[in-house]
Amino acid sequence: MKLRLAFLYVMMMVSWMNDLLDLLFPRCCVMCGKRLAKAEEHICVSCSRELPRTYYCKEPDNPLAKSFWGRATVERAAAYFYYYKDNAACRILYTLKYYNCPEIGVYMGKQMAGEINRSGFFQQIDVLIPVPLASKKRKKRGYNQCEKLAEGISYVTSIPVDTTSLIRRVANPTQTRKRRMERWENVQGIFSVVSPEKLVGKHVLLIDDVVTTGATLISCMDALSVIPQLQVSVLTLAVARE
Ligand SMILES: [Zn+2]
Repeated sequence: MKLRLAFLYVMMMVSWMNDLLDLLFPRCCVMCGKRLAKAEEHICVSCSRELPRTYYCKEPDNPLAKSFWGRATVERAAAYFYYYKDNAACRILYTLKYYNCPEIGVYMGKQMAGEINRSGFFQQIDVLIPVPLASKKRKKRGYNQCEKLAEGISYVTSIPVDTTSLIRRVANPTQTRKRRMERWENVQGIFSVVSPEKLVGKHVLLIDDVVTTGATLISCMDALSVIPQLQVSVLTLAVARE
């Protein structure tokens, strides 16, 4: 009885502390900036509803899958939402990449996997491989945002995450201002595989935060192509739309 009362007391204290913290440091929606309700995390319910979803997981020959045709063999490809320049959803990506907020990566991974799971997209996937970050960039950011997304996806699907088999050998200069062809040349041959025998006959799902030209993902697939009987699928949080 005493133990139960003590437990209730601790729970009440935790709840008061959370309320106090919320009062002192209000949590706001990363998309609209409005204050979050108690049950909301990172994104408010109305912004989450308005997220420009692609629904690519329901359409095997979607534009992202087609963009790989003739360039790489991809079993399945999907992206969670569209990324336009300056749309509200792009604030999710900025927060994830530049505002030291790894939690939003895990959160978005869970959201994306929770919605996509019903389509059967994750069936027969053996392992999740986040696109590796250059070690300098990882050090500066403190985490790899693709790993955080994979963590969230793994939480929902129970598919393990492999962060050691695919490595980035060299850092590439920032791609943001480069033209399509230059970007393509820029990432060729920058990845390699460690212990390829571990992945023989597996179906891997490459995880990236945003796909623009697809060059980085194709470069990952080039590196993975040394592995016999490997199947590769792709899932990204966002896909750029002009
Ligand atoms: Zn909002």
